[in-house]
Amino acid sequence: MSKKILYVDMDNVLVNLPAGMSKVDPEILKAYGDDPDEIPGIFGLMPPLEQAIESYAQLSEWFNTYILSTAPWKNHSAWSDKVKWVQKYLGKPAYKRLILSHNKHLNLGDYLIDDRDANGAKDFQGEWIHFKSELFPDWPAVMDYMRQRR
Ligand SMILES: [Mg+2]
Repeated sequence: MSKKILYVDMDNVLVNLPAGMSKVDPEILKAYGDDPDEIPGIFGLMPPLEQAIESYAQLSEWFNTYILSTAPWKNHSAWSDKVKWVQKYLGKPAYKRLILSHNKHLNLGDYLIDDRDANGAKDFQGEWIHFKSELFPDWPAVMDYMRQRR
């Protein structure tokens, strides 16, 4: 039997955004106000979320796994920073498996692990695993669930 298709979001799922933001000069943060994700180079500062790397590696054995993320339209560097991040932290299991999209619902598949319903996630035709929700507060909770569904 072929593996089911799984998509994994990046920001606040694989990537620890608040930890990255805390490395930015407060003056620069202030200047960007509500749009800190538009700070050039900011994405390069982001560490992985706890247990995200091991979980991704395991999931990529259980599922046909892709990264499905959105990069800010006005921040060109975020688009290249994201591919660099994936190469640095996820390595071989993520090779040529990064999809950057503002329309996640156009991707066909069985599961999407995402912390938000934005950028098409709420219209995804498979099952949305709502990361950081009550049911799926962290990676161990997600892995317990996905282990049953491979
Ligand atoms: Mg996210």
